[in-house]
Amino acid sequence: MDTHLRRTPGKINLLLRVTGRTANGFHELRTLFHAVPEAADEIAVDFDAPPGIAVRCSLPGVPENEENIVWRAAERFARLRGIEPCWAFEIGKKIPVAAGMGGGSSDAGCVLALLDRRFPGLPREELLRCAISVGADVPFFLDPGDAAARGIGEKLEKLSPLPMPPLLIVSPGFPVSAAWAYRHLERMTPPEQAEAELAALEKALRRKDFPAAAALCANDLEHALFAKFPLLAMLGSALEEAGALCVHVSGSGPVLFALFDSVGKRHEAAGRLGEADFAGAGIEVMECAER
Ligand code: ATP
Repeated sequence: MDTHLRRTPGKINLLLRVTGRTANGFHELRTLFHAVPEAADEIAVDFDAPPGIAVRCSLPGVPENEENIVWRAAERFARLRGIEPCWAFEIGKKIPVAAGMGGGSSDAGCVLALLDRRFPGLPREELLRCAISVGADVPFFLDPGDAAARGIGEKLEKLSPLPMPPLLIVSPGFPVSAAWAYRHLERMTPPEQAEAELAALEKALRRKDFPAAAALCANDLEHALFAKFPLLAMLGSALEEAGALCVHVSGSGPVLFALFDSVGKRHEAAGRLGEADFAGAGIEVMECAER
């Protein structure tokens, strides 16, 4: 056994603007990613396993074959480096699945980073190309933190840590496929507008003007989600009534994030979601550490 262990966080998209489509059908975005270590998977890899690539996951329902994004990432890395893999991966799943927190992408990014450390030598550009070929959000998870992304996700701009107001994340406990969310996209944002919002949001966070930052958070995919899933709209209203500066869907949903101007208000809001209206709905509430 030659085992290595690493935790890999989820993410939220503080801003997600869909700005167009490429000729081959991919969506072009402007987005601001923020890593969320409070929802993190654990990846264990054995580099001394029987020949081939094996994947196991703690959560039933997540594929354990070549459909797992970890398998695909490992296979591509092995092919690129000309390695015959003898690798076994175990995923301890904590990031909600099909929820807009990038769970699969996080696992894949973490695995590519682990493989790159173990078998160094791939030029950074090639590793990034490998990551993007596995999934649009995967490059972010090679080194998660705060980052802006453009294009289909391949133009990644790593940012120094952003000040963040008290943040609450609410997972409503049901899955939404990213394909469904993109199919129901109702509007796009002109690239110049999205670019200006991205710059303004980063600036507002840097100067800790959290009300201004909250007013700039947005998600072009969320309209269809709020319309289709009444529970989401109910949770959104409850968070706003509890004093949230803003409430938005993360990524392709259905996870919601809310920003607050005090830890006290956030705590009260979290408590409210534990009350009667939502009891038994299977929702998970995460109060994130201040950074
Ligand atoms: P994103 O925010 O990047 O769109 P997501 O949170 O919406 O991601 P995932 O959690 O990555 O979605 O899961 C999407 C689908 O991928 C699920 O239906 C799941 O079965 C499949 N899948 C394959 N590999 C994994 C993995 N390692 N972890 C989670 N889901 C995986």
